Amino acid sequence: MQKNKLLYTGKAKSVYETDSVDHLILVFRDDTSAFDGKKVEQLARKGRINNRFNAFIMQKLADAGIKTHFERLLTPDEVLVKRLNMIPVECVVRNFAAGSLCRRLGIEEGTPLTPPTFELFYKDDALGDPMVNESIAVSLNWATAEQLAKMQQLTHQVNAVLVPLFDAGGMMLVDFKLEFGLFHHEIVLGDEFSPDGCRLWDKQTRKKLDKDRFRQDLGDVVEAYEEVAQRLGVDLTDL
Ligand code: ADP
Ligand code: UDP
Repeated sequence: MQKNKLLYTGKAKSVYETDSVDHLILVFRDDTSAFDGKKVEQLARKGRINNRFNAFIMQKLADAGIKTHFERLLTPDEVLVKRLNMIPVECVVRNFAAGSLCRRLGIEEGTPLTPPTFELFYKDDALGDPMVNESIAVSLNWATAEQLAKMQQLTHQVNAVLVPLFDAGGMMLVDFKLEFGLFHHEIVLGDEFSPDGCRLWDKQTRKKLDKDRFRQDLGDVVEAYEEVAQRLGVDLTDL
């Protein structure tokens, strides 16, 4: 598949048009950002590891019957995906309290959340990705109530697939963010699932194995991402 015009340069990926109107190529870069793009660094090999990792997870989700944009890996840092009309909200599910939930509510990190929570954030770095709700999303025409209900149901379904997967690798899936879009009027999972957009802790030691290592200057960020991939059996050869 031919890589044509550069459509968009995001914080971690670049998006290219292809020969097919229905497909895009995403290039996973080594750029790593936090705090709505205020902290940025290049972490060698991160893009390739996340590309491989994301392909592995998207395949697991497809096996569970969840529609995703993933088509196929093209090169170590490139993936072919369906071109979605993205809905500008981030869907977050939490199994344990961390990050903004702790800051907002003053609760202790690691507090179990039963059942898992679901939150929506408006995807806008300049505004700091503010929290929104379904009513706002519908009234601003970002999505219909039915589409939002489907996104919530799919996000919980992704959680139900991934919690046991990470558990088998000795990890707690603390929380994660998903993005959805429309492909010929159907809600489809887009973007990526990688340690950049979720929190993973070692079950025994609670060691952080995700982007919090970067946010909190804990070091060994890429090493932790590699460890997560290896624990799940993701093939990282040739990277
Ligand atoms: P950000 O925009 O948050 O900086 P990235 O650097 O990951 O994030 O950029 C990737 C961009 O591509 C995001 O804006 C994401 O919403 C968008 N995107 C992801 N998957 C698709 C897809 N299948 N079709 C269209 N856009 C997509
Ligand atoms: N997240 C993300 N992109 C964002 C905001 C959050 O991938 O723009 C992920 C984040 O990595 C975590 C989950 O969503 O796994 C919940 O994030 P939270 O609301 O706690 O915000 P944070 O404190 O991480 O900014």
